[in-house]
Amino acid sequence: PPRRTFLVRRTWLDDRGQLILVEDVSELRRLESVRRDFVANVSHELKTPVGAIVLLAEALAQEDEPTTAQRLVQRIVDEGDRLARLVSDLLDLSRIEEGSGVVLAEFDARSLVEAVRERFDETARRADLTLDALVPVTPTMVVGDRWQLESALSNLVDNAIKYSEPGGTVEISLDASDDTIVLAVRDEGIGIPARDRERIFERFYRVDAARSRATGGTGLGLSIVRHVVENHRGRLNVTSMEGVGSTFELRLPRGGPNDGR
Ligand code: ADP
Repeated sequence: PPRRTFLVRRTWLDDRGQLILVEDVSELRRLESVRRDFVANVSHELKTPVGAIVLLAEALAQEDEPTTAQRLVQRIVDEGDRLARLVSDLLDLSRIEEGSGVVLAEFDARSLVEAVRERFDETARRADLTLDALVPVTPTMVVGDRWQLESALSNLVDNAIKYSEPGGTVEISLDASDDTIVLAVRDEGIGIPARDRERIFERFYRVDAARSRATGGTGLGLSIVRHVVENHRGRLNVTSMEGVGSTFELRLPRGGPNDGR
């Protein structure tokens, strides 16, 4: 069991003896430590591309050979891209974590799937992957925050593409029952080892940091997904087998998070 921390808030002396009021501050301390770790992680993640840009720019200033200079410029652009992606993911995450900012509306979940499929069409083609979308033939209305759900689904499809090998298939699907919709993203990629499956939803946790970096990952995608699902009082399921593939499934109440069913 986690160690508990108590703080003495007040003491009194009366005719029965001494009274001490203590408060259990364990949860407060835990949150402080989570925040400290987060700030340390963010600082580290930001320092890496910034440091690289400075070094590359210094090398560029000394370089006379045009093709080498051109290569250095390209690497500065890549590191700059990485920095921009990191900042954008951090902003998304903090906006989504602020659960109060959820904007609910009713919309057809098929249009969400269609929008995400279109957005990743070109990326999938370039990675030599088939991207399929399976949706019901009739409108599938749901109450939710469209921007947040699109961001969650996009992160799942982005991962499915990043962690697949050429020739594979990525499938986005939508199913609905009377009270639930199920959005699923299935891939035939590298899979996730069982020991990592619990931790991949933590910020900056990666199974293989080198592969994540090489494909432009920030380690924040799945924490964004987890918070979006929490904001909708939904459930998130992962099944995966190494070397075979992974399926991420979001189950959301059709009436939205405030439906109370
Ligand atoms: P990243 O930006 O590194 O992809 P995420 O938070 O989106 O960060 O995912 C965390 C880690 O979970 C990834 O680094 C990867 O190791 C693993 N992962 C996520 N999705 C998949 C997938 N579809 N197939 C295999 N591994 C995955």
